[in-house]
Amino acid sequence: MRVCIHRGTEQIGGTCVELEAEGKRILLDLGRPLDVADGDAAASVPRIVGLQEGSADLLAILISHPHQDHVGLVEFVPESIPVAIGKAAAALLDRAANWLSRPLLAGRTLINWEDRRPVKIGPFVVTPFLVDHSAYDAYALLIEAGGQRLFYSGDFRGHGRKAKLFDRLIAAPPPNVDMLLMEGTVIGRDGEERQFPSEDELEVEFVDKLQGAQGLSLLWTSSQNLDRIVTVFRAARRTGRRLILDLFTAEMLAATDNPRLPQADWRENIGIYVPKWMRRKITQDGSFDVLKRFKANRVFLDQLADPAYDILLFRPGLLKEVDAEAPLGGAQLLYSNWSGYLADPSTLLVRQWIEARQIPMHTIHTSGHASLPDLRRFAAALAPRALIPIHSFHTDRFGELFENVVRMRDGVWFGMSAAIAALEVPIIPPAAAGSEVAGWAAEDAPRVLSLEQ
Ligand SMILES: [Zn+2]
Repeated sequence: MRVCIHRGTEQIGGTCVELEAEGKRILLDLGRPLDVADGDAAASVPRIVGLQEGSADLLAILISHPHQDHVGLVEFVPESIPVAIGKAAAALLDRAANWLSRPLLAGRTLINWEDRRPVKIGPFVVTPFLVDHSAYDAYALLIEAGGQRLFYSGDFRGHGRKAKLFDRLIAAPPPNVDMLLMEGTVIGRDGEERQFPSEDELEVEFVDKLQGAQGLSLLWTSSQNLDRIVTVFRAARRTGRRLILDLFTAEMLAATDNPRLPQADWRENIGIYVPKWMRRKITQDGSFDVLKRFKANRVFLDQLADPAYDILLFRPGLLKEVDAEAPLGGAQLLYSNWSGYLADPSTLLVRQWIEARQIPMHTIHTSGHASLPDLRRFAAALAPRALIPIHSFHTDRFGELFENVVRMRDGVWFGMSAAIAALEVPIIPPAAAGSEVAGWAAEDAPRVLSLEQ
């Protein structure tokens, strides 16, 4: 098997890895880089044979999970290329695309991942492992071809609502992994050595803040972070509060088809608010049926009788209408995203707004990614013959943190055997292990694929 990481050896986001065996190819993820604007997304599709015009030897695009930094460029490639993805993940993306008037996945040939059920795709046998992550329906992928085994971690963590999946995987990992492509999102962040709080611990913090609420609690989190919605819903139930979801988030929850997740038509502790942009879309499309399901739970922001009992899901896009309509006396903002976003220009308006309105902000959050101690446990359990850093801004630090690290470069092909041989019989001095490998990768006669050929 040969491997080329098109994006990911030096960054988080935009992940795309190409694998080749017996002249056939598959891609692991086709994500959109974090810093690419809507208008530039199409131009950021990696230059891979077949991604523009289709190609018989490009067999499929394998998606680990439905975050844009892993799936965001799929809409720009030919529909003839099959996509493998979790069933619920596909449903979530399609439901979102429907509202945002973007192309659906549904037009494509889909292979649906089922936890630990191998799928044969040409010379590749792919086994998906359901993992704990802040994205719903996320998988790590074991790929076997030509007697070699590559394990792609995707994005994962060991401290979320599905932490058991992490424990199960490291208790009985797939044996004889030749190569592990492992994410390292949190490496280089402040306090990287600490373990992260669990969702259960966050629930206790939410309960505390809700009990002390003097007015409306605004919950600022991502509508894709369904684990977090569950955490806050549980805190709402424990404190006799009502969680008011916006219709978009309610649609995401409905798309999972999971009866254990909070749903918009539940009788208690749930309200539904329809944002202006969705009201416009419903009128445009005449899709009034969508409102029927939760008629009894519908909430209007200017009619909240007792705001201290309400938690309103909030995002920067809703600022104007929340400011104009919702009762904000005594309100608090519960911030439940990565703290780094608060330094981003996109959040400036909200920061100015809460200051002007004197709304106190409390951060209650835990990472969607594995802590360094959990990354260490994961790498030790998988015990790969070579560990390749990916999905990190600090891949240069993997060498000091893990065993058997070989660092790759974006766009450079390498043979798996050569990468492993480089570790067993170092042809680069040990001090430089974990640095560039282009020299010996080139000796392995890489098949360089580009659109120019
Ligand atoms: Zn990611």
